[in-house]
Amino acid sequence: MKSCSASLAQSKTIALIAHDNKKQELTNWVLTNKDALKNHNLCATGTTGYKLEKETQLKVGKFISGPLGGDQQIGAKIATGEIDVLIFFWDPFEPMPHDPDVKALLRLAAAWNIPVACNQASADFMVTSPLLQKEYSREIPDYDAYIAQRTQ
Ligand code: PGA
Repeated sequence: MKSCSASLAQSKTIALIAHDNKKQELTNWVLTNKDALKNHNLCATGTTGYKLEKETQLKVGKFISGPLGGDQQIGAKIATGEIDVLIFFWDPFEPMPHDPDVKALLRLAAAWNIPVACNQASADFMVTSPLLQKEYSREIPDYDAYIAQRTQ
């Protein structure tokens, strides 16, 4: 598939999600990295967002709770270029009723080539990357070329 590029601004929109057994770990990680995160636009699935806002005092935009559609809302925002980074502490030890939504979200993050961290070590590497604080050009699918090819 043809690709083109999109620019990630200096201040990024970062989606934060944690499954229930991982919510405290994500909250602790956000607290540890509050200075690096405070100049970005943070958003989260519903329950994660309420907990993060309450415990970190950072402003966090909230979608619907993940199992009720929040993962899909975030996936849709990735596809429209409105979310730049995904930090998703998913639980590798618990099957979830909304596993298909989780898979779909991770698929869209891969398809649209956004940075994804699924555990604390990856998130540590991401938050200390100089790219997080400056503009970055990423390759994305060329949607117009894709449509043109399919409608020939
Ligand atoms: P929640 O959703 O933040 O509303 O708990 C997370 C998830 O997708 O499981």
